[in-house]
Amino acid sequence: MVSRLFVMKSINLILLLTLFSLPLFGQAQSTAKPKPRVVVVGVNGMELDVIRPLLLQGKMPNLSSVIKKGAYGKLRTLSAPNCPRVYSTLFTSTKPEEHGVSGFIVGGITANTNMLKQEPIWSLLSKDGVTVGMANVPATFPVMPVNGFMISGMLTRGKNCEDGVLCAPKLSEVQGGDAVYPAALKAELLKNVGDFYIDCERMPAAMDLKGHETEVIDAWLKKVQLIRDQQTQLFDYLLDHHPTEFTWLAQSCEDRAGHWLYPIAPYHAGYNPKINSVRPDAFPNQYVAFDKVLGAILKHTDENTYVFIVSDHGIKPLREFEETDPHAHMDHEKTTPVIAKHDFADGDDVPGSFFAMGPGIKHDLRLMGFEASVYDLAPTILHIYGIQQPVQMRGHVLSEIFENSDKTVAKK
Ligand SMILES: [Zn+2]
Repeated sequence: MVSRLFVMKSINLILLLTLFSLPLFGQAQSTAKPKPRVVVVGVNGMELDVIRPLLLQGKMPNLSSVIKKGAYGKLRTLSAPNCPRVYSTLFTSTKPEEHGVSGFIVGGITANTNMLKQEPIWSLLSKDGVTVGMANVPATFPVMPVNGFMISGMLTRGKNCEDGVLCAPKLSEVQGGDAVYPAALKAELLKNVGDFYIDCERMPAAMDLKGHETEVIDAWLKKVQLIRDQQTQLFDYLLDHHPTEFTWLAQSCEDRAGHWLYPIAPYHAGYNPKINSVRPDAFPNQYVAFDKVLGAILKHTDENTYVFIVSDHGIKPLREFEETDPHAHMDHEKTTPVIAKHDFADGDDVPGSFFAMGPGIKHDLRLMGFEASVYDLAPTILHIYGIQQPVQMRGHVLSEIFENSDKTVAKK
């Protein structure tokens, strides 16, 4: 696999050399026929059970508008879903055993892009001349060369976050690889956006919570909002100053909050009134806050932009009676009193979610059952750009969401 990876990286280098004549950060040449514009917004662990009541109450107006103008439904995920495992499937439309990133830790090492054994979508698009911009997308550290820019997200390593697992290094504190491509963009971001946190805050340990529950919960939520504000500023800056044809932005604090602040009832496993009765609105509020981020992103789009909002999985209160330790959560902070999770053996217990709108996408279409899966995102995006789906990809183009897929998507 080393040789294959080497080939992939060599291709990227050749690509970069051939693109050398393009303006910095790959903005489209004015003479070229405009390519479709696609914006993907990833939300880690968005839970439809929590989203739906908020939509009914009118607390997520931006997501509501996307639903009215587009298609939405559950997104079938993988078994034992977690972020790097599913994101790498979203990137490649291949199984974890094929793309190599089976979880947070693979063979004792934190998941990273050097493990990726299948060609990701950013590489396929870049090769085809599509400009690509990505920020805070999980499992993209160290960043890889693209025809545009890439800023890593969850699993970035840094000071006080040496293993990179679910902790929050600042841009200036990154270690063990590059978090920004091209390198020159790093100084520009530090100057214009500031020294932002790349991933969401680490969850508190049981020891820190004991006796100081309310104080710790409130301080944690404050930090999470600070991180979200910084990310919004980053997205805003990138969309303003480095617009790309394909853009993928992601949020990860929602899932983190759900693991220990999901509004569970006293009958749920793990219920501790000292923690779980303090801020029952903390988790729903994450989505209300996300909706504002979405609003900031949507300001940079128009009716010709395809927008996909995608969650890698949902999150539910502990529910598997086979488990011997109700707090065990293999992939998250082991000392946090976890009361909700997603890496259940049956991924259909925690489906992700999918929202799409754009030219030729049906309005107010609800996808029933599991019409869409995490394998289908990459083929659908390639289809929009008129790029043929590579043979290794297991998903299919979500033609059911298009009015007439032959006429409405770009042809090469
Ligand atoms: Zn999680």
